[in-house]
Amino acid sequence: MKRTMENQKLIDIRNLVKRFPIGDGSFTALRGITLAFAEGEFAGLVGPSGSGKTTLLNIIGSLDTPSEGSVTVLGREVTHLSHREAAALRNHHIGFIFQTYNLLPVFTVYDNVEFPLLLQKGGAAGRKKAVMKALEWVGLADKAQSRPAQLSGGECQRVSIARAMVKRPQLVLADEPSANLDADNSHHILRTMKRLNRELGTTFIFATHDEKVMHYLDRIIGLEDGRVARDERIENTTEDDHPPASGEIGGSELPGEEDFARP
Ligand code: ADP
Ligand code: MG
Repeated sequence: MKRTMENQKLIDIRNLVKRFPIGDGSFTALRGITLAFAEGEFAGLVGPSGSGKTTLLNIIGSLDTPSEGSVTVLGREVTHLSHREAAALRNHHIGFIFQTYNLLPVFTVYDNVEFPLLLQKGGAAGRKKAVMKALEWVGLADKAQSRPAQLSGGECQRVSIARAMVKRPQLVLADEPSANLDADNSHHILRTMKRLNRELGTTFIFATHDEKVMHYLDRIIGLEDGRVARDERIENTTEDDHPPASGEIGGSELPGEEDFARP
């Protein structure tokens, strides 16, 4: 069930400044960012290395706090959250995808995807249904008992997408998700994420300098030296504009929300 993009702000950032202490002074990584994101966006922070993409993504994800300004995420002012409140916001509402997948190597694919659900209340049966559904979304239900070392990089990243999606978060933050992948695998994971965005209404925000990612974005926010240098909406990008990657999930429809047991 697609949630249409409402004019409602999922994220509202005003005059955000981030300074990191270095030695006796400080380094200003973000120099006054004002930006908003609506529900259902598929947007990217793009810009050269060091432009502040990861810093901004981390603040949106309440992994770090602003030095100045205000950042409201899902109705909460993150600047003033306690550690516990920030953890609750992340655990319940935000999924993270990292360049290096961050999978636990001794655990199976199934266990890795189940992990975020162990932080929430919910029974084992509901968890199992949620984990298998998330693995179906990324086309890896048959690899549930494999371990990360037995998978390709693209498959590992698909496991990490399933892990990010298993709680059905409103927001997924992906920091350079394709940086370790070849072209085929990059297209595959992007098509998977775009499909989840379209079908489930999940908001995705990327940090990337990969041209392949940019082709899929509905909005490109260019960062330069800690400032927003451009903010462009792109019309008519569809997943059908891109050739299918090898190993594509064979035309499977995403399950509807009613199939998903919210844990
Ligand atoms: P990007 O993700 O666009 O490559 P980052 O957000 O990682 O950029 O970094 C922006 C700038 O802030 C860089 O110059 C980086 O060196 C600096 N920076 C990031 N994190 C820290 C930190 N913890 N301490 C000091 N400087 C940092
Ligand atoms: Mg970065």
